[in-house]
Amino acid sequence: MRFTIRPVCLMLALLGMLSAGLPVRAAEPPIRVGVLAYRGGDHANAVWEPTVRYLAERFPQRGAEMVPLDLPGMDAAVASGSVDFVLTNTGNYVELEARHGVTRIATLHSSRSGASGAAVGSALIVRAGRDDIRSLADLKGKSVMAVDPDAFGGFQVAWGAMLAAGVDPYADLKELRFSGFPVDRVAFAVRDGAVDAGVLRACVLEELAEEGHLDRAGFQVVGARTEPGFGCALSTGLYPDWPLARLANTPEELAKAVVVALFEMPEGHPAALAGGYEGWTVPMDYQPVHGLFRSLRIGPYEHLRDVTLLDLAREHWHWLALAALALLWWAVHSLRVEHLIKVRTAELRAANRELRREMAERRRAEDTARERQKEMDHVARLSILGEMASNIAHELNQPLGAIANYARGCTRRLEAGVGSAAEFAEASRAIAAQADRAGQIIARIRDFVRKRAVQLEPADVNGAVEAALQLCEGRARSGNIPVTRELAPGLPPVLADRVQIEQVVLNLVKNALDAMGDGAGEGRGVTVRTGLDAEGRVEIAVADRGHGLSEDARARLFDPFFTTKPGGMGLGLSICRTIVESHGGHLWATDNPGGGTIVRLVLPAAEEKVDAG
Ligand code: ADP
Repeated sequence: MRFTIRPVCLMLALLGMLSAGLPVRAAEPPIRVGVLAYRGGDHANAVWEPTVRYLAERFPQRGAEMVPLDLPGMDAAVASGSVDFVLTNTGNYVELEARHGVTRIATLHSSRSGASGAAVGSALIVRAGRDDIRSLADLKGKSVMAVDPDAFGGFQVAWGAMLAAGVDPYADLKELRFSGFPVDRVAFAVRDGAVDAGVLRACVLEELAEEGHLDRAGFQVVGARTEPGFGCALSTGLYPDWPLARLANTPEELAKAVVVALFEMPEGHPAALAGGYEGWTVPMDYQPVHGLFRSLRIGPYEHLRDVTLLDLAREHWHWLALAALALLWWAVHSLRVEHLIKVRTAELRAANRELRREMAERRRAEDTARERQKEMDHVARLSILGEMASNIAHELNQPLGAIANYARGCTRRLEAGVGSAAEFAEASRAIAAQADRAGQIIARIRDFVRKRAVQLEPADVNGAVEAALQLCEGRARSGNIPVTRELAPGLPPVLADRVQIEQVVLNLVKNALDAMGDGAGEGRGVTVRTGLDAEGRVEIAVADRGHGLSEDARARLFDPFFTTKPGGMGLGLSICRTIVESHGGHLWATDNPGGGTIVRLVLPAAEEKVDAG
């Protein structure tokens, strides 16, 4: 659209140029003013054509033309330099300023501007009587309708204020809707209860009421605040109105001349009436708009939405610090645990070495003890046999004497030439039997005194008792002491070294015979009993009617080297107890109620049965 006043007179044109302070040039192109036609070309024409026409009148030699542009068109026109000036809304201006270096040269002075000259803000409206929404923070969880995401007063200013109140309209609302134009749809949606609240550019509510489209009393403004000199209800701060801006390469003189022309627009000029403003004023500070856009990350600051790691770190530094601390703690803890494990492992290894050394030592000590025990057993057996040597010799003498008698008898008969072959055969059989008997005595003694390792096997207790009694039979006979056997039949075997059990019984019987001394007496004798005790253990009891136990003997009976006998060693009972206990049994002495002593021992029965032998 072009408004050109053709000069009729060169002189007039020249004068006009001079008055505009421009150098004289022939056929200069018209001044091109890009105008944001946010509601289409017709609307833009109606509102801004008179203003551009005013400029054309002020520059008759060039004329001026209005170029209605939408947002992308505005950007392209500025980028290509196809316009000299742009008249656009506040938000679009800061974007063009940041992107293309356009500079505001004047700001619209609205009839509704506050004392500061700023005129653009937002009103958040709700139906009158909505007491649940009094402040912007109350909008959380509510449904809100705004004009358009790109509408400055119709959304963006309110968006910033809501964020400042702790409500992110894109995250914290039940619903966010945009009505588009005409903006009165927002007011109607609020009035009809379609949404809880609506966002309008400040003053739109009042304008709609003045035009009779709605009843102002039916609405209230959320978080209403006042700005000095500003006549409309407001929920936010105020921002400057539309500016007129020149492009970076628009000549300075032209810019100045246009500013002068605009400032000189008479009050009540039809152009101002059509544009809904009072006039033009010095360019206002648009930094607050930059601040708002920066915080919303829109317009020239949209790139801030690409969140960098640094941004995240800055925003969440306290969590990061906490995580770093936790990591540090964990690292220190791990190192400490590792160190403790190392120390503990070393300690355990040392303890293990020490344990192994102790075990080896103990094994050596046990081996030595076992060896000593074996020696002692052997010595004890030799000693007990030594004590009984004369009786054993007497024992052997009997068969030997018998053999000699039979041999002599045979010799005599042969020399006398008497005797039948049958008689000689009988005699030599008797000789052989006596020799066998002597051999058995010697074999028994040899078995008994043999130095040998302990052999645990199921053993028949009655058999062991019998073998021991046979070894001391001669001694009993020579002392004229009857030895009675009361051996219980069918006893379970014991897991034992049979020779050791024989040794114990022999020792106890020898002690019993010793206690009775020589000489006959009433009721004298030794009784050896076997049987089962109440707990199923095999018991052997050797009872005598001897002198009994003195107090001293009772207390020290099992002490090594305790003896009351001249020439006694005092080791017998202590060795017997060691042997019995090493078989898991128990050995003790009690008084015999009829006088004398009973020495008893119990041995645990073995699992398996053995044949009595
Ligand atoms: P020793 O027979 O060489 O003395 P023992 O250890 O066999 O060694 O016996 C220790 C002592 O216990 C004996 O000297 C004796 O005083 C006492 N003693 C052992 N058995 C009996 C018994 N049946 N009756 C009385 N005293 C006994």
